[in-house]
Amino acid sequence: MYSKIFEDFLALVFPKTCCLCKRSLFDFEDQLCKICIAELPVTNYHLRPQNNELVTKIMGLTKPNLAMSFLRFSKKGGSQILLHQLKYKNKPEIGVELGRLYGNILYQNGFSNNWDQITPVPLHPIKQKIRGYNQSEQFAIGLSEALDVPVVLSLIRKQFTETQTKKSRLQRIENVAEVFDVDLMKDVNGKRLLLVDDVMTTGATLITCANVLLEKGCQLVDLAVIAAGKNQ
Ligand SMILES: [Zn+2]
Repeated sequence: MYSKIFEDFLALVFPKTCCLCKRSLFDFEDQLCKICIAELPVTNYHLRPQNNELVTKIMGLTKPNLAMSFLRFSKKGGSQILLHQLKYKNKPEIGVELGRLYGNILYQNGFSNNWDQITPVPLHPIKQKIRGYNQSEQFAIGLSEALDVPVVLSLIRKQFTETQTKKSRLQRIENVAEVFDVDLMKDVNGKRLLLVDDVMTTGATLITCANVLLEKGCQLVDLAVIAAGKNQ
């Protein structure tokens, strides 16, 4: 009761605004206004999840099943602004909201019973401590709400990755190969997993994580990211 009054008071003094256009939000809106949601650069990868540029990217490097991205990444576009706020402006709620929006799209397109677990790519514990949260896990939480599939933190990260910028694609994959492992306390054997991350650039991290999960007996691993595109 009191918390609701306090919440209403805060909303009066500091009205919630849209993360993109800064317009005041209605009660039924969360993070983004309806107009900005309608204008998000949504991909249609979920309509051809086995035949799109993400699948082409991972082909031959991991057993490709489905690979999808909610948004198309474009410099100075809405997706870049949202990702920047999610990662660097202490706005974990944006990740949850984007997960919810994408989860609803996936649900409406028949993906209601595809997965047993949703697993985010982990951040290094030190990095997560500094940021306060893992942005990919926030995306997973939103997807979980919309799809009614539990989030299971099955992957662990063992060490810091060296800077990747001057490495070739194969070197990058080798470089991250030793970094990820499956948490021994989690049961992934025979499970159908949706592995999620914030962005797909070279795909090295997602390929490595998918391979680690498949080696430990996952039945299948599908991939979903918030944004992907050529101009990252
Ligand atoms: Zn807006």
